[in-house]
Formats: sequence, C-alpha cells, structure tokens
Amino acid sequence: MIGNGRPVSEVGLRLVKVSAGGRGSGVILSDDVLWVRQHWFRRAVLCAQEGCPACVWNASREVGFLAISTASSARLLVELSPSAFERLAGLAGLSSGGRCVGLAGWRVDLSRRGLRSPLVVEPTEFVGVDPKAAPSYQVMASAVMRLYGLPALRAGEDVVAYAARVRDGQLAVINAAIESERVRGNTP
Ligand SMILES: [Zn+2]
Repeated sequence: MIGNGRPVSEVGLRLVKVSAGGRGSGVILSDDVLWVRQHWFRRAVLCAQEGCPACVWNASREVGFLAISTASSARLLVELSPSAFERLAGLAGLSSGGRCVGLAGWRVDLSRRGLRSPLVVEPTEFVGVDPKAAPSYQVMASAVMRLYGLPALRAGEDVVAYAARVRDGQLAVINAAIESERVRGNTP
C-alpha cells in the first residue's frame, strides 16, 4: 500500500512510495513543483549540467517533485514525470468547475500498477488547503537534494550558490555511479 520512502527527517519530507498494485491518497500542499534533471544508473543521480560526466553515458530526464499530505504523514514528496504533471494539471484544471485554481488543495489518488510502472496521480476533488502547510523552498529543495545524496540548502542560499558549493560532492556521486557501471563491464 502506501508508505514512506527513505527517511529525510532532517528536512521533514520523505518520498512517497506506492507499491505495485497499491493505492493511496493525499492533498497537494503547494502549487510549486521543483524540477530537476536526473540520470539513471540503477539509481537516480542528479545531473551536474555543464560538463556533467553522466551526460556522456545516458540522456538525463526531467522529473518534478510536489508536496502532499496524507492521513499518516504531514508532508511527503511525490515524484512526477513531465507528462504525468501535464496530465495532472490538465485534469485538475478541467474538473475545477471552470474556476481557475492551482494544484494546491486538490485531493489526489496515487496508484501504481506494476513495479516498473510510473506513479499515477489523479485529482479527485478540490478540498482546499491552509497555505501555511506548504513547505518553504528551502525545505522542499533540501528534501529533493537529499534523495540524490546531496546536502541540504542553507538558510537564504540561492540555487546558484548551492550548486557551486555542492558541485564536488555531486561529481563524486556521479563518478561513483559511473565507476560501478565500469566494474560491471559497461561502457558509455
Ligand atoms: Zn548530466
């Protein structure tokens, strides 16, 4: 069924996990979706953009994260592909009775058909949400970075400063992933 992923208690948001054939539901807390590019090496690795060694191995793909609350947890992260996001935004917009509302406040059903199937996020009704429940950018971004094995953002730190500060660590994560491919005999 629905459960929590890797703990990121330092920053308060975990990744929602829905098992194959499982279902869950939650309420979207914020209109903000945090988009990043990742590579897949048996696990997700954050793309280092300019001069990224992983880009030589495989194409990065974009994933977005949004924050929800569930009956069992105050705040969780949901990972979405761009197409899943387009679909969610389209469905939420269409079923809001012609009223233009954002993503925040929509109750969503979460389901996953099979182990390798993407998470399906389906809006069911607009219930509204206290704007104060939305995580700050720092909390949200820190939780996402944590998923990729990277440190939290410091208070007031912008994305550019953060990227510069963690770049060496990020490249180490990427190079370790590449090295484990080489050990398996794989080449770019
Ligand atoms: Zn890359």
